[in-house]
Order: sequence, then C-alpha cells, then structure tokens
Amino acid sequence: MTAKRIALVLAYLLFPAAFSLAFRLLSEDAAFYPPLYSMAIGAGISSYALFCLQFVLAARPRFVERAFGLDSIFRIHIAMALAATALAIAHRQLFIAARGEGSDYWAYVLGRLALLAYLAAGVAALLFLAKTPLSRLKPVAALVAFGRKAGFNYGRSKAMHNLTLLISALACAHAFNVPAVAFYPALRAAMAVPFALALGFWLYHKAGRPTRSYALRSMTQLSPLVTRLEAVPKGRRDAAAFAARKAGQFAFVRLRPPAPGAAGLTREFHPFTISSPPSADGSLAFSVKAAGDWTMALYDAIGAFPGADVAAERAWALELDGPYGRFSLEDRTPRGCEAGPLVFIAGGIGITPFLSMAGALGKDSGRRVLILWGARTRDDLAGLDELIPLSGRGGSGVRTVPILSNDPLWEGRKGFVDRAAIAELAAEELADPRSSYWICGPEPMRILVVKALRALGVPRRRIRYENFSL
Ligand SMILES: Cc1cc2nc3c(=O)[nH]c(=O)nc-3n(C[C@H](O)[C@H](O)[C@H](O)COP(=O)(O)OP(=O)(O)OC[C@H]3O[C@@H](n4cnc5c(N)ncnc54)[C@H](O)[C@@H]3O)c2cc1C
Repeated sequence: MTAKRIALVLAYLLFPAAFSLAFRLLSEDAAFYPPLYSMAIGAGISSYALFCLQFVLAARPRFVERAFGLDSIFRIHIAMALAATALAIAHRQLFIAARGEGSDYWAYVLGRLALLAYLAAGVAALLFLAKTPLSRLKPVAALVAFGRKAGFNYGRSKAMHNLTLLISALACAHAFNVPAVAFYPALRAAMAVPFALALGFWLYHKAGRPTRSYALRSMTQLSPLVTRLEAVPKGRRDAAAFAARKAGQFAFVRLRPPAPGAAGLTREFHPFTISSPPSADGSLAFSVKAAGDWTMALYDAIGAFPGADVAAERAWALELDGPYGRFSLEDRTPRGCEAGPLVFIAGGIGITPFLSMAGALGKDSGRRVLILWGARTRDDLAGLDELIPLSGRGGSGVRTVPILSNDPLWEGRKGFVDRAAIAELAAEELADPRSSYWICGPEPMRILVVKALRALGVPRRRIRYENFSL
C-alpha cells in the first residue's frame, strides 16, 4: 500500500473518532456521564460522521479515485454505509439501556426518523443499486426483477438515493436537539461540520464537477445490439483532460442530442470503457451494448443521427467525465511481467478494454498477445474487425480466438472459455512465468475463468480483472 493510500485510509477512519473526541473535549458534562451513556453518544456521533463521509466517496473525487480505483471506492462505500447503520442501531439500543426511551420530544422524533430512513435507504440501495453476493440469492433476484418491472429501474433508484442527503440533515437536526448538545453552541457548531461536508461534496458531484465536451463524429451499428460512438474534443481543454489517458480506462458519458429526441436518453451519466487506443487528435470511441433503458434508447437514436451533415453532427454533444479506472497495463501489470506475454480473456462486450489495449500495443510490440473472446454468437463479436489487422505473421502480434457458445454455423472454436480451452489455446503463455492474465466480462464468467486459471497453476497475483458494475 502506498503512503498516499495509507494516509487516506487513516484520515477516513479517524474522522468519526475525531468527532467523538471533539464531543468529549467541548462538552462540560461528558466526563461525568455513566459509561453506557458515553458509549451511546460515541456510537451515535461515529455513525453520523461515517454516514456523512459516504458523500465524499459517492462524489468520486479524483485524488481518491486515483489511489483506489472506482470499483474499490464503491465497495468501501457499501461496507462503510452498513457500518454507519450498525452504529446507529447500537446508538439507539445503548441509549435505551442507559436512559430508557428518553423524554426530549424532538430529539426522539428526529432520531427515530433518521434511523428508519437509514434502514429504508440501505435496503433499497442494497437491492436496486449494489451488486453484492446477496443479489445472487433467488428470492432477492425475484424481488429485484419485480421492482424493476414496477418501474424501479437503476436510474430511478439512483435518483432516489439522493434523498440520503435529507437523512444526514435529519441526523444533524437530531444531534442539535439532544440535551447533551443543545445547550452548548460550540458543540452545535461541531455537529454541523459532518453535514456541511456531506452537502459540499453532494453539490460538487451534482453541479460542480468539471465535464468535458466532445462532438459526436459518428454513430454506427457494429452488430445487432452494439452501437459505436466516435467523438472528437470540442476545445483544447477538453482534449487535454484525456491526453494522458491509458488504454483500458473508462469515462462517464452523457449524450446530448440537439433536440430531446429518443425517449429514455435521460441526463444521467453512464460508465463506458474507451474502446479506441489513445490517439494524438484526442478522439475517443465507445462500444455500447443495449442492455437496459438508456443503452436501448441510445441504440434507437442511431436513426436520428444525421449521416453526412457535418454541421448537424456537431450539434450532437457528448459530455464526458473521466478518464477513470486502474485496469491498464501501466497501472496493474504484475511485477516481473512487464515484458511478458499477455492473455486477455473477454466475455461479450467485455472486449472493450482489450480493443483499446491491443490497439495501443499494435502488431509490433514484441510481446505475445492472446485474446480469448467468449461470446454467444457471431453477432456478439462487435469490434472483431479492429483486432484482425493487429495479428502478425507466425503467431506474433495480437492473436484473437473467438469462442462461441451458441452459433451452430460458426466454423471456429465452439464452447466456453473454460479450463480445457485455456489449457489448449494458451499452452505457451501458461508455460511462461512472465505471462499476465486480464479478464473482463460478466461476473459468473469471471469467477469461472479465475478458477480455471488457478487450477492451471497461475498464481493469483498474475490475474487482473475489471467489473462492468460499480
Ligand atoms: C467501469 C465500467 C465500464 C463499462 N464499460 C462498458 C462498455 O465498454 N460497453 C458497454 O456496453 N457497457 C459497459 N459498461 C456497462 C454499462 O455502464 C451499463 O450497461 C449501462 O450503464 C446500462 O445502463 P442502462 O440504463 O441501459 O441499463 P440498466 O438496466 O438501467 O442498468 C443495468 C446495469 O448497468 C449499471 N448501470 C446502469 N446505469 C448506471 C450508471 N448511471 N452508473 C453506473 N452503473 C450503471 C448497473 O449495474 C445496472 O444494474 C461498463 C460499466 C462499468 C462500471
């Protein structure tokens, strides 16, 4: 762990502790409280401070993202939000054990409301936003499917998640009204700090985050379900933001058609890997598979895109926030594998980071690059045309092997990217201790591939993967 990461983790963990300490120092009575009551206050303050800290993570500030990567940030966010909820429950139970239900009306009502809202928001987020092992349980999956049908889609769930700011306001109001704080102005001021932090980061995330403006140059249908967007920076500052991007990184994308045409192209940002290699002119490409409301709407919008009318095309803007991500050879190559063979294993649209990485390496990189691409049918091989020119003579350059599971007319390899396929197709790479393995695809496939690689003797430290869910 780098010094920067350690410093950030310490600051994060010490923030709630610092608030408990501030309470003890600023309160004239704290030293005389019985231990159970002190513990109740400590749990309450820590819960409130930790809850407010979640807005810092959710705002994905760049200095945190660069240190941990966005997928880790969201995993920490889920774990810490759960910890804050557990502390809130502990706060209430300890308080009842120490003092009974309490007699201060507003403190009681606000505290009760905040706790109920914590729980409701937590359950809703776990069900409809997060991908956790819980999501794989059949009854949970059925409940989520029912909710989605009833209109509780990802976008709406995310919009509703914004209400958590009100919960932090409720928790702050509760803290203001408890008698232990209410009579001390200094304590009240201290209690406002976590809420001010939450509000500040929320506003930054919603309104202050700098985004980059790109003009859409083309919008083409790569396969029956995949759309390729190609965009060029509108100005020098827009180009500069992506100038140092690494192959494999992604951006949050929002499409702005000149008139709000395609229904469903809502204004929220969606993450997509930049599938083109870094280029001098700053152009970026994205390959987007129609998977839900927004991506379907994008797919439907192709018909409205003005083919050759350059002026009309430039009215179609992409707003971008990025680049993000640590799934790049520069950031994640295991030690000792810097010049070794690369095995890229993709599932379906999970090919996008490898399109960028393989394109950046080109056919003369001097490294063996093998791409095993699992998909259902030929229609899922969107982007294969970009990989074929990268193969060199005699096994040099980028060797791409599509493996199709559901295409009877396919004359290439059929089946899955399983242990047998990897053992046979990557025999030379498996024998080389400098080989590294990079996986991107649906989670079930990723789990199977990691297991297969481990069974074939590949150490975990030489396996890297990217999730397409945050
Ligand atoms: C790092 C990363 C890179 C990705 N790269 C690609 C790519 O190159 N090509 C591609 O086709 N897909 C990619 N995806 C997946 C893509 O973001 C989703 O398919 C898309 O956002 C679905 O939106 P929807 O409204 O059409 O579908 P929905 O049915 O609303 O959502 C389907 C799932 O997509 C995710 N999702 C939806 N909206 C958002 C959002 N605003 N922010 C974060 N996650 C969201 C959620 O996990 C959700 O469960 C990537 C995802 C991530 C996290």
